[in-house]
Amino acid sequence: MANLPTRKWPWRGVIEEYRQFLPVSDATPVVTLLEGGTPLVESKVLGPSLSGKIKMYFKYEGLNPTGSFKDRGMVMAIAKAKEDGATMTMCASTGNTAAAAAAYSSAAGMASVVLIPAGYVALGKLSQALAYGARTLSVEGNFDDCLRCVREICENYPVALVNSLNPYRMEGQKTAAFEVCEALGGPPDFHALPVGNAGNISAYWLGYKEYRDRGITDSLPVMLGIQAAGAAPLVHGKPVDHPETVATAIRIGNPARWNDAVKAASESGGIFRALTDEEILATYADLARYEGLFVEPASAAGVAGVRKLAHEGYFGDRAVTVACTLTGHGLKDPDRAISMAPQPETVRADVAQLLDILGLR
Ligand SMILES: *Cc1c(COP(=O)(O)O)cnc(C)c1O
Repeated sequence: MANLPTRKWPWRGVIEEYRQFLPVSDATPVVTLLEGGTPLVESKVLGPSLSGKIKMYFKYEGLNPTGSFKDRGMVMAIAKAKEDGATMTMCASTGNTAAAAAAYSSAAGMASVVLIPAGYVALGKLSQALAYGARTLSVEGNFDDCLRCVREICENYPVALVNSLNPYRMEGQKTAAFEVCEALGGPPDFHALPVGNAGNISAYWLGYKEYRDRGITDSLPVMLGIQAAGAAPLVHGKPVDHPETVATAIRIGNPARWNDAVKAASESGGIFRALTDEEILATYADLARYEGLFVEPASAAGVAGVRKLAHEGYFGDRAVTVACTLTGHGLKDPDRAISMAPQPETVRADVAQLLDILGLR
């Protein structure tokens, strides 16, 4: 595609790289941890093993500064909050938004408050919020309860809301779609990703449309939104009161970006699908074992969805490219990784014994 920009090293972070696509001006402070610019890795095993002619790519968002795609939107939300003179930020989070909000608030010299659902935040994410210095409040309730409290407080007090209701989050997150287009030389035929609060699928759709509308690309992908069976409001068409899934990042019963996500799926001719925790965890394990890509459980949902849809013949027989967003790093949830793998054996520091164990003599 002739109109796609070429980029040169070193990467400058999403605000600088995509300044003309973002609502920033000279008055906007450039807060950055050099987020974005993540690799698009071609699948070597899982893609080729599918029936049909599917070329699968992984947008590995775990390589962002705090280990998830949330950094793309957060850098924008924090820069704009700072521009507006805010001194305190607040968010509800299943963990990754908290980590990003805490990191970027600290980098911008602002205080941050994060509300997390008690008992449902993965250890790595909790450690980040604490280490970055956020006032971390563990709420007796689920994510939706946390968000309700944050909305009410931010509407009535001088605190900047940095949840995905914040429009600047979407603007920053859409840059991932730009990067996918640049890496592939155009948009993929399909784009699959996990859907929780539904900000990311909406942001990708925004990004793909913007590149097309500006004549930078000339087509759009079909958007595939994957949810967990116990937290699949967009599949059922109604909120889920008590969402449950091991994929805590998408354990959300009433997505804030409901309407935008429905629009992304319908305008693109895409669908929402629900996968069981077992299906998500099987792909989670396979991504690390066969592709060398360690992600958190929720991040595997998009890939798991593509595998299931391919199995059902959804992609047909024509050659297609499918991009899957791997939303967050595997180190976010070390407990899950350890509980699913055999425990390390304890041995003596003895070469002879090691050779016996390894079957090398
Ligand atoms: C936030 C998050 C999601 C869900 O994204 P939404 O924009 O809420 O749909 C999925 N995976 C990970 C790792 C996340 O942090």
